[in-house]
Amino acid sequence: MQKKPLISASERLSKLPPYLFAELDRQKKAARKRGLDLIDFGIGDPDMPTPDEIVKAGQIAMADPANHRYPDGAGCDSFKEACDRWMKSQFGVQCETAAVIGSKEGIAHIPMAFCNRGDLVLIPNPGYPVYRASAILADAIPVDLPLLGENNFLPDFEKIPPAVLRDAKVLFLNYPNNPTGAVVTLEQMTEIVKFARVNNLLLVSDNSYSHIRFDGVKPMSFLQVPGAEDVVLEFHSLSKTFNMTGWRIGFIAGGSNLVNTFMGAKENIDSGVFTAIQKAGEVAMDMPPLLFNERLEIYRERRDILVAGLKKLNWDVFDSPGTFYVWVKLPRGADSMVFARKMINHAGIVTTPGSGFGTWGEGYIRFALTIESARIHQAIGRLEQMELHKGRLLKWLKKTGD
Ligand SMILES: *Cc1c(COP(=O)(O)O)cnc(C)c1O
Repeated sequence: MQKKPLISASERLSKLPPYLFAELDRQKKAARKRGLDLIDFGIGDPDMPTPDEIVKAGQIAMADPANHRYPDGAGCDSFKEACDRWMKSQFGVQCETAAVIGSKEGIAHIPMAFCNRGDLVLIPNPGYPVYRASAILADAIPVDLPLLGENNFLPDFEKIPPAVLRDAKVLFLNYPNNPTGAVVTLEQMTEIVKFARVNNLLLVSDNSYSHIRFDGVKPMSFLQVPGAEDVVLEFHSLSKTFNMTGWRIGFIAGGSNLVNTFMGAKENIDSGVFTAIQKAGEVAMDMPPLLFNERLEIYRERRDILVAGLKKLNWDVFDSPGTFYVWVKLPRGADSMVFARKMINHAGIVTTPGSGFGTWGEGYIRFALTIESARIHQAIGRLEQMELHKGRLLKWLKKTGD
């Protein structure tokens, strides 16, 4: 009898890219151990707490035994109604909605619901790593769409080869964009929806940062494009909008056929979001915008300090109006991982290397604005003291040790 192989990870799992940030985590730990005071621009997780009224609503709902049983998989009626009100009030959109355990969970289940083995999934590069992983875990094949500075970090759809378009089933997009901060206009959205329709692509819009933009432009949704609900599914997350990353709640929006297909996969895997958390989510979405605007002003202040400081040093900042990230281009020839490591060890400043978001992120680093203004001033002060002007960066990289 043939010997059975030992227990091992699935081929799918071994196809996932390595976790590039593990090395940086080690560097951070080691630097802290040496007593270095690290200013951490690394983590894209709001530092401000969830607003009180949301927390209180969650506490009250948690104490109610009616909420202790299995939730309704697609979300309880009142949560779905709150999602519907939100889509209507924020975007003027009427569509089907269903709760997800954060948009990460929702995104991860898209290829499983819509792709067959070997289908192509178009993913932005650089991009949120879950798009690629979710395709691989569903035996679909991720195909990179480069996001280039010269195109304002929008894919060049004309450059996608016809053979790729023929076999592509899903297109992931994320605007306002992590990691670049890029945004799109309603005109561009309209073109993209048309492109998806002509090519029979499911456009999956990750709208996690819909409400984090500083140019006064109203939040937008791909579902605003007339007829989009036939080809668009959009994820909305309460994580970044309401400082609720730990709560794990968001929702999917789109035409009912598409949402039902998605739920067909999802309902076999999880049993929905804890109803008490949905109740807190309702309160969040019904909150007066004033509170929200205060938070936005804080991000704006931090962003202005960082962008002005880096520009004074002549650094190549992508001056974008969206998200709480600042995307910075390194001098040609600089390796982003090496750069990030040296920034930790020699300046005590943590940034995220662009290569961690994909090959086309190489040559860039990302700053997250999730620390206080005073610390940002301090970081700029350190860079000034080290005289790290853009013109000196390459030399600095070469001459400093690890
Ligand atoms: C933070 C983030 C998410 C995850 O949001 P959750 O709703 O907390 O799962 C999704 N997409 C992008 C681009 C993000 O930056």
